[in-house]
Amino acid sequence: MVENKANDPALRSWVEVPAGSDFPIQNLPFGIFRTESQLPHVCCAIGDKLIDLKALHVMGYLENLPFTLDDMVSDSLNRCMRHGKMAMRELRNRVSKLLRSDMPDLRDKEHHVRQVLFNQNEVQMLLPIKVGDYTDFYSSEDHARNVGIMFRDPAKALLPNWKHIPVGYHGRASSIVISGTPLHRPCGQINASDETLPTYSPTKQLDFELEVAFVTFDGKPLGQRISTAEADDYIFGLMLFNDWSARDIQRWEYVPLGPFLGKNFGSTLSPWVVTLDALEPFRTSGKAQEPAVLPYLEFEGDKHIDIALEVSIQPAEGPATVVSQSNFKHMYWNMNQQLAHHTVNGCNMRCGDLLASGTISGPAEGSYGSMLEIAWKGTKPVTMNDGSTRTFIQDHDTVILTGHAQKDGVRIGFGSCSGTILPALS
Ligand code: MN
Repeated sequence: MVENKANDPALRSWVEVPAGSDFPIQNLPFGIFRTESQLPHVCCAIGDKLIDLKALHVMGYLENLPFTLDDMVSDSLNRCMRHGKMAMRELRNRVSKLLRSDMPDLRDKEHHVRQVLFNQNEVQMLLPIKVGDYTDFYSSEDHARNVGIMFRDPAKALLPNWKHIPVGYHGRASSIVISGTPLHRPCGQINASDETLPTYSPTKQLDFELEVAFVTFDGKPLGQRISTAEADDYIFGLMLFNDWSARDIQRWEYVPLGPFLGKNFGSTLSPWVVTLDALEPFRTSGKAQEPAVLPYLEFEGDKHIDIALEVSIQPAEGPATVVSQSNFKHMYWNMNQQLAHHTVNGCNMRCGDLLASGTISGPAEGSYGSMLEIAWKGTKPVTMNDGSTRTFIQDHDTVILTGHAQKDGVRIGFGSCSGTILPALS
């Protein structure tokens, strides 16, 4: 067992960290960056800069850790993650130590510092993980209830299984893109009612879904389960995730096998993997689960995490408008329960699998995680700061998700997850 030494609120870095930065020394999220002249490397964020772990490795600063140089010259974190949770904890501890203001080893070697630090705004961030299998849950009670009220019976808004099963489906891993990647408005079949015939057109109800996703280490082989008590050992870290959705396409296609083309045209992932280790101080209890869950879904301790989340829409011209402020702690089912449920039948879990929360809505208006709910199926248009209105996302709109946990003067942020919608291809 390796002690997690990187979270101490008293730590300070010799690298300047601007006030309000998402990336103080207590965070040190992992990512993959490239410059014009170099192959992709593993890095950690610190303030407005990042530190190149390949360069650190070459200079000998990562000695006595299990990582090879090849692990650090990679277009994903998967090679590093294969070494497991304790190795990644040791690696974050080492980077923390090298960046501490009271540790001169790297600090005082100016020629090394010049080679390992990069300005974040001068490099390209890549998708941090090679996503294996992607699963999307539906674990926010407020979201599930809102959708149930809109599309089914308000008196029976939650389906009978909802409080017994962390409902989920298998999504498409290969259409997950890094923040900043534009997506075209998807086309497909749309039919407003079962009594009419479908038409083919660009979606008229393009939506975002505010989600948090987690990435797994190698799990157990096919046939074995991961318990709620073991789940933390298999979770590397968390990212912001916009699971774009075409509501009109989704509505016509989803019975009986679930979401398909209304979802798989693209999902946007933020570039920094914030480790579960860095988020431990922000654990909190979730809402009590009633009725009681089956024994394999029971868990001990605080397994929710207090992460403030925000969504804004930036039109092509004019100012952005905040359309939602929610929190990851509103989830009904926690990640441990999701992982235990996912593997209870013996389903395997591999390094780089991505498990997303489902749309995160809070209990109050203003905290809903999709335009479907915010504008209530188009009946309550949102007035933007430029005077225009939205019921769904328009062409050239950019949707920006941000999130951070904050406590004891420490802010652990996620950076941003943004994507612009381009007109449909003809
Ligand atoms: Mn989703």
